[in-house]
Formats: sequence, C-alpha cells, structure tokens
Amino acid sequence: MHEDPPSTDATVIVGGGFGGLTAALSLAKSVPRGPITLIEPRDRFLFQPLLYELLSGELQSWEVAPRYNRLLSHHGINWIQERVTTLDFSERRIKTASGQQLNWGAVVVATGARTNDFGIPGVADHALGFQTLEDVNSLRNKLRELRLQRRPDAALVIVGAGPTGVELACKMADLLEGTARLHLIEMGETVLANNAAFNRERAAAALEKRDVTVHLKTAVTAVHPDRVELTNGRQLSHQGLIWTAGSRPNLPPMSPDPMLVGGRLAIGSDLRLIGHDQAFAIGDGSCCAEESWPATAQVAMQQGEAVAKALLATRGGDPPQPFHFQDRGEMLSLGLGDATLTGMGVTLAGPIAFQIRRAAYLTRLPGLSLGIRSASAWLLGH
Ligand SMILES: Cc1cc2nc3c(=O)[nH]c(=O)nc-3n(C[C@H](O)[C@H](O)[C@H](O)COP(=O)(O)OP(=O)(O)OC[C@H]3O[C@@H](n4cnc5c(N)ncnc54)[C@H](O)[C@@H]3O)c2cc1C
Repeated sequence: MHEDPPSTDATVIVGGGFGGLTAALSLAKSVPRGPITLIEPRDRFLFQPLLYELLSGELQSWEVAPRYNRLLSHHGINWIQERVTTLDFSERRIKTASGQQLNWGAVVVATGARTNDFGIPGVADHALGFQTLEDVNSLRNKLRELRLQRRPDAALVIVGAGPTGVELACKMADLLEGTARLHLIEMGETVLANNAAFNRERAAAALEKRDVTVHLKTAVTAVHPDRVELTNGRQLSHQGLIWTAGSRPNLPPMSPDPMLVGGRLAIGSDLRLIGHDQAFAIGDGSCCAEESWPATAQVAMQQGEAVAKALLATRGGDPPQPFHFQDRGEMLSLGLGDATLTGMGVTLAGPIAFQIRRAAYLTRLPGLSLGIRSASAWLLGH
C-alpha cells in the first residue's frame, strides 16, 4: 500500500467525464496550478452525445471515445486509472480500489450518474442500456441479429422518451430498415417533456415518419426476457428492450456523510459542497439547492471550467464566484442525416441541422480529435 504525504496544494479530481476532464484540463492551464491528480477507472473518455453516430457507424470509436493517455499527455496531469472507494473529508484522504491512499488540499467530485431502474423487476437482468461502449456493441449485435432473422413479428422496445430514448428510437428505426417494429414507452403525457417546443415537435414528426409506436401515459411494471408488462394491463412481446428511463448519482462512499439533495451532492452556487471549504462537486452527481441546472454535458463542462477558477480563487484566499450557467440551447439527433436544434436565437431542423450538429461537435477542446473538438465549442459556448 502506498501513501502520499499530505500536501496542501494538491488538487484531486474524482471522475474524468465531461465535468472532471474539463476541470483537469482547465486547471492545468492555470498559473500557479499545483499538482493535479485525476482518478478515473476507464481508459477512454466517452463523448456520450455522439453515441448514436457511433452506433450507426457515422463516427468511429477513436473519435467518440479517445484514450485518456492521449488526452492528458503533455498537460502535466497525474492520471490514476482506478475507482475511488472512500472519500474522507475529515482526513482529506481518498482511497482507491487497490488500496492506494492520497491526501488532497482540494477535491472535486465529478463521478456522474448511472442508470436508475427504480427497482422495477427484470430491468437489471433483461434490459440493455445506452451509456457505454459495451452498450453500443450489444445494440449493434442486436441490430445485426434482427436484420438477419427478418421475423415478421419482431419488436424492439425503448423505455423513456427523454432525449436519449427519442434520439435512439429515430436512429434505430433507420438502421433496422423495417426488420422490427419499434415501440417507445413513456409514462408522461408527451415525448421530450423538458425540451424546447420546437425540438419536441420535430422529434414527434420524426418518430411518426419512422413509424415508431409511441405509448404515452404508460409505465413499465416488469421486464421479462421476451415481454414487458405495462401499467395498463397490456404486455408487449419483444426481441430486445433498451432502458433509458432514468438515472441516479454515482457517488463513492464518503465520510462523514455529505448533505444530499434528491440523492445528489448538495452544493452552493459556488460549486462547493455544503459545509466544506475545499471540496467541490460538479456535473450530474451534484445539485444546487439555490439554483437548478439541468444534468447535461453542457452544464458539467461549464462547471468544470468554473471549478478551475474557483480552486485558484480559494488558493489565493478569495471566495469563489457563483457559477452562472449559459444555456446554449439543445441539439437532438433524429436519425440518419437528420437533426433539430434550438438555441442562441436559432431553430433549425433537417439535413442542415444535422450538418451543423456534426460541425458543432467537431471543433475544440485541446487534445481531442477533430471529431470531438466539435461539441465542446457548442457545449462550452465558445
Ligand atoms: C446517450 C447519451 C446522450 C447524451 N447526449 C447529451 C447531449 O447531447 N447534450 C448534453 O448536454 N448532454 C448529453 N448527455 C448527458 C451527459 O452525457 C451527462 O450529463 C454528462 O456526461 C455528465 O457529466 P459528468 O461529468 O457529471 O459525468 P460523466 O461524464 O458521466 O463522468 C463521470 C465519470 O466518473 C467516473 N467515475 C464514476 N465513479 C467513480 C469512482 N468511484 N471513482 C473514480 N471515477 C469514477 C466514470 O467512469 C466517468 O468517467 C447524454 C447522455 C447519454 C447517456
């Protein structure tokens, strides 16, 4: 077991997703910066907004999931490829799965969120997800299987008509080329309930055009390998079910127990954990009681930049500035060659929106491929 000596200027960032990676790269550019350690167990950063294009083959995995050693090289960031198993605020100490211990002067928790099955029987055992590279591979295999079988009664079910469910339904419908019926199940009264009206309308039209059967005001009560039970007493047979209906924070064990809001780490508008001066939380795993920010990559990246500034301020003895989210709008992929976008005074749909979305997902973020630099420009807003 290895133990680092306590160091008051060492910053440890836990989780290298959108928030954590942006925080590490932003902090690395600052002077003076002190030692920076990023703890992230995966070997590749995953650009989730482009997973649909990876599924369809419109983009390749090296573009959508670049390796951390390439992203972090030349930035002077110490990357530990591990999972954090304990975060001790009193001792300012972190333990990893292999037993390694590190002390921190400041810590940023950016561990994101994972699928929430709400305890519904069968989801964990029989549903596919759409969050990881492994999920994309499983879905590709499923598509291949359905296209080969060409069963007249084949059906795929997607649960949850938020952005992921709707975007996935459109892409899957195009890729299936009529070899399976697609069902989209949503317990709310509309698809994309929290999205811009323009995007919602375009998405509804895109689903209709692709003959996706949308079941509104319908909840799933149990999932079986070959059928799903619904609240209205109906059952649907399926050859595959994809769960996109919810997420919950992915927090490592912490002591003493931090304050939570809705299961997420409670932070102030300056991104500090309530009751802590040198501990910050950003992204999907955090929640501010004073202001509400959506759980999106756009927010996580902007918070990553803001937390780097906050760390420098606190190091200089100044209070961090409150975080202000700049909403750049939203872009949705709606199948092969189709998209819709709303934001910054623009509403646009169709092939041109698809090209703009791709281009927006093809500009900056140092160290990322051309394919990835894109999104950052949109998400960060410059
Ligand atoms: C298919 C899909 C499409 C999406 N499309 C969009 C979009 O178009 N626009 C948008 O704004 N948002 C989009 N999102 C949402 C967006 O991806 C999330 O909001 C964003 O990833 C949140 O960033 P984060 O930094 O909080 O967490 P993440 O990016 O999930 O990163 C968390 C990281 O923490 C690591 N980690 C977890 N536990 C530990 C631990 N114990 N120790 C160390 N590391 C740990 C994980 O490995 C992960 O790398 C999409 C999400 C999905 C699934």
